[in-house]
Amino acid sequence: MPEQSQTFIKVAGWEDLNIVHGFGTASFKADFDVEDEQLRENLKHASVEFAAEEAMLQNHGKFETLITVKQIHSRNLLQISRFDLSLPASERIRCDGIICDRPGVLIGIKTADCFPILLFDPEACVTAALHSGWRGTLHRIASHGVGRMAAAFGARPKRIKAAIGPGIGPCCYEVDEYLAAEFRKTFGEETIAKSRNGGVSLDLTTAIKKDLLSAGLSEENIVTLNFCTACSKEHEFDSWRRDRSHTCRLLSVIGIPREKKQTA
Ligand SMILES: [Zn+2]
Repeated sequence: MPEQSQTFIKVAGWEDLNIVHGFGTASFKADFDVEDEQLRENLKHASVEFAAEEAMLQNHGKFETLITVKQIHSRNLLQISRFDLSLPASERIRCDGIICDRPGVLIGIKTADCFPILLFDPEACVTAALHSGWRGTLHRIASHGVGRMAAAFGARPKRIKAAIGPGIGPCCYEVDEYLAAEFRKTFGEETIAKSRNGGVSLDLTTAIKKDLLSAGLSEENIVTLNFCTACSKEHEFDSWRRDRSHTCRLLSVIGIPREKKQTA
């Protein structure tokens, strides 16, 4: 069994950034396909558990809320600003990414084979969490997110740090020739691999990385976790392809903590 500290995988090299972040594993169950009452409870629980873990491990400040969205495999984005008078309700907006510069708000993406992408510009203090399956990747949600971080909050691609989380690897993601051809055309031959059965499979991590590079990010600022959700031996993940279950999703989060309260 994974240890408690493996509930969220941290990105190597992000230890000194002023953010709380993590890619969820199956040790933390985020069951989002439930009635609203229950959903609120789950989100409350998620927020509290995560904040508590972080507070203990890194002595971060608290978060007022965790916001997730109704994901629809689009490239629509939700923007949350520090100047907004009110915050959107979790799960009320249909889109596939959140851009946020408001301290005290954790933003989250749920996945089970699709890829979570976390982005952060330390100088502009803006975060993003994106959901990228094959549709989102083909629609270039990653570079679209970077563009929005720049346009709305003054982020600069060269400063942005990116992490591409766990998702279905080329080892387990066999697709048909038609889809492979789309990726070949859009991102090049290196995003296509041979599947175990002799067919073709997609390497979405490579496609997303190429999209981020095309948006102006530096290669040294892009971290790829390369854990396959279907066959990873290091961590336990939910996998739609493996389990055919819609109820369990991995929750990945990022947020800027509120300034710690001064003690008298
Ligand atoms: Zn695999």
